[in-house]
Amino acid sequence: MSKLNLTIHESLVTPADRRTAFNHGSCVLWLTGLSGSGKSTIAAEVERTLLTRGVHTYVLDGDNVRHGLNADLGFSDEDRNENIRRIGEVTKLFVDAGMVVLTAFISPFREDRDRVRSLLSPGEFFEVYTKCSLEVCEDRDPKGLYAKARAGKISDFTGIDSPYEEPLNPELVLDTGELSVWECVNRVIAMLEKSGIITSNSGNKETSP
Ligand code: ADP
Repeated sequence: MSKLNLTIHESLVTPADRRTAFNHGSCVLWLTGLSGSGKSTIAAEVERTLLTRGVHTYVLDGDNVRHGLNADLGFSDEDRNENIRRIGEVTKLFVDAGMVVLTAFISPFREDRDRVRSLLSPGEFFEVYTKCSLEVCEDRDPKGLYAKARAGKISDFTGIDSPYEEPLNPELVLDTGELSVWECVNRVIAMLEKSGIITSNSGNKETSP
């Protein structure tokens, strides 16, 4: 389809306006790791913690994306690329809207994650690697998927018959085989505070300057 007649309207609201209105910055916490490594669990707890502090936040994960926006995509390499490309574009919109967005996708390919990073401005993309051995993930098997993959009922399953490319320079590594869920959540919150995305009074308009 031709894009010749498309005009991009500039917003009258700047990122700084949103930061002042919300009293916090915006970014994506891009969780990546094997199935069962803890992405959804940590994303959900971080979201709850941030919301109680008044931070505008939202989790994009498999259920709300694979069943809707990306319902037409499967698990071939090509479809996995397209899955992450679309999620990256949606993430960018959430970040532009001033939110702290969390994503919980295996996102096994380095190139795909780097492409999303390049869509965003410096300081807006935090790659969070939920590091956990295949043995521990398979032992947890919270959704019974490894058992199905081993039984040949699911093909192209990351870690079994599809590769996972570890992040080379992630902003944060969470060793979920060693740490508790709360230790992981606290490390994410500490990173957001250290980088100035949130402050101790984020979302509290009464005490904002
Ligand atoms: P993923 O989203 O990566 O597929 P889930 O969050 O669905 O993984 O499942 C991870 C499982 O591991 C959950 O049952 C969770 O309770 C357990 N778990 C144990 N320790 C941790 C930890 N430190 N962080 C996250 N999950 C953990």
